[in-house]
Amino acid sequence: MNGMFKNRNVVILIIFGFFVHALILKAVFDIYFSSPIDNGMTPIKSTNNPPAKRLVFIVADGLRADGIFGKSQSEAPNLTKIRKTRGSWGVAHTRVPTESRPGHIALLGGIYEDPAAILKGWKVNPVDFDSVINQSTNAWCWGGPSIVNMFNRDNLPHIHLYSYDPSMEDYGKNDTISLDQWVFDQVENFIEQHKICNDCKHFRQSGNLFFLHLLGIDTAGHAYKPESAEYKSNIKFVDEHIPKIEELFENVFPDKSTAYVFSADHGMTNWGSHGAGSYHETETPLIAWGAGIKINQKRMDIDQIDVAPLLSALIGINFPINSL
Ligand SMILES: [Zn+2]
Ligand SMILES: [Zn+2]
Repeated sequence: MNGMFKNRNVVILIIFGFFVHALILKAVFDIYFSSPIDNGMTPIKSTNNPPAKRLVFIVADGLRADGIFGKSQSEAPNLTKIRKTRGSWGVAHTRVPTESRPGHIALLGGIYEDPAAILKGWKVNPVDFDSVINQSTNAWCWGGPSIVNMFNRDNLPHIHLYSYDPSMEDYGKNDTISLDQWVFDQVENFIEQHKICNDCKHFRQSGNLFFLHLLGIDTAGHAYKPESAEYKSNIKFVDEHIPKIEELFENVFPDKSTAYVFSADHGMTNWGSHGAGSYHETETPLIAWGAGIKINQKRMDIDQIDVAPLLSALIGINFPINSL
């Protein structure tokens, strides 16, 4: 009799314990698993006196800060020269997961990834979010389909997205540079066409954004690892094109009112992966120069989500509405 009574108590205790744990777990999820997206807020204009009329934003996917800073600075002589003589630079610190989607959402939306995205493997956009691209007067974006196509789910007419065929991402594994070559060629053609076009008034408006997403370095990092000749030669290729891109814009807009920002969505481990929180994955380079950028040779680090408000303030557009 006594033994049975004891057993019943144990069962009650186990059931009670189970509910207490479930309750605590739910509380944790409620607190930390909430979406950063709030609805119904009024957009806030960054500034009425923007220092730049337009912005060229270049993201080298998978480029870790170590890849072009410190001992590796000779891998990117042009970017090194820019940051040492006429720009401002530092490390932009990402959060985990160090994946492409959350990285780009931090850079362009100013928010950390919606935790609900974990249910979609961090690959698909679970909720709509605002971005610098959305808030720009006009935006032209070139790059990988998985990235650029995240940014105009409402088919807004002021956003123009150009991406290569998804099959090229696979093909690019053998020739990673071809992915970035595609972007640079497209931008060059686009600028050449708009140079001579008379009714391209959108092209010359203030508050415009030109976004270049370069997937080559990430692809080379996965396929050959960051210490490989392939990763480094892709960095060199991008670095060689930075002055060319700048020259294109300066020629078509000789008003000294173009700002340039170069960064990455996440880094890469020595064994060619990303997603976790090692410094190789979370430390990305940030270099800014041109209109509105104070020259500062000393390294200044920021959080990756602070890039979005910086981009907005340079061209005087609204901060992305959910920007933290
Ligand atoms: Zn990426
Ligand atoms: Zn990757």
